Amino acid sequence: MKIKDAGSVVYSFSPAHQAVAELTPGETIVVETADCFGGQVHSQGQSPETIDRTRVNPVSGPFFITGAEPGDALEVEILDINLAGQGFMMVAPGMGRLGKLVKEPRLLVCELNGNSALFAPGISLPLKPMLGVIGVAPEKGEIPSHTPGTHGGNLDTREVRPGNSIPLPVSCSGALLGLGDVHASMGDGELGGTGIEASAEVRFKVHLHKQANISGPRVTSPQGTYLVHSAPTLGRAIDAACKDAVDYIRSSTSLPREEAAMLVSACCDLQICQLVNPKVTVRIFVPHLS
Ligand code: CA
Ligand code: CA
Repeated sequence: MKIKDAGSVVYSFSPAHQAVAELTPGETIVVETADCFGGQVHSQGQSPETIDRTRVNPVSGPFFITGAEPGDALEVEILDINLAGQGFMMVAPGMGRLGKLVKEPRLLVCELNGNSALFAPGISLPLKPMLGVIGVAPEKGEIPSHTPGTHGGNLDTREVRPGNSIPLPVSCSGALLGLGDVHASMGDGELGGTGIEASAEVRFKVHLHKQANISGPRVTSPQGTYLVHSAPTLGRAIDAACKDAVDYIRSSTSLPREEAAMLVSACCDLQICQLVNPKVTVRIFVPHLS
């Protein structure tokens, strides 16, 4: 087991980045992740003006995965997310879908006591830790860590949490896995642009599926598989998710296209992940079929 210090981070996914460590499939690792503002938030009452919002979502890594090659699927099994003792939220005019409704920037620090987040006197929320950012390097070029896509990235998907596994399509040798942006809690949509943001220690294990040729990120749970799609518009993200669900059912059954479409309509839930990043993200859940 290894601990990676969150002090060394990157702000993009790129095959040009130098890996910080090499992981072997099957190995368990614990990684420290910085919060979305890289530790700039310290105490209640701190002015939002003190926050440099130009450098968001520091990513721990990247990690070179032994044996990973383009066409493989890298599956990240999330075992545990150990949150720091405090988290924070921010709202500001122009930020997220709620940015039209607030009149001034506001920063709120809240204590995380192990079971709940103490949002305000008399109001606490259950902790539901998740990773906002998880991804691998694209084949070429560089994708900023605030952007979601087929490589993963800033997916802000609540199901990226302990107990679930995240298959990602490998596009370069070694995959170059990175992760960060832990939320202690986040509602679907992430409507104000932040969840309860916190630094954390993330314990996970990686598995390699040779030449699985998946087209984008997925989340597998004990109940089934979420297919995760990001696009510039909600309509395009939904269309891509629907097509993927039909194709997924056809590849795992012998059903023709029309019956596969009926099954999607009968039992697959379309859900919004986030509406606030440079692309929006949706997921469609395909339950185990038997
Ligand atoms: Ca995020
Ligand atoms: Ca975040």
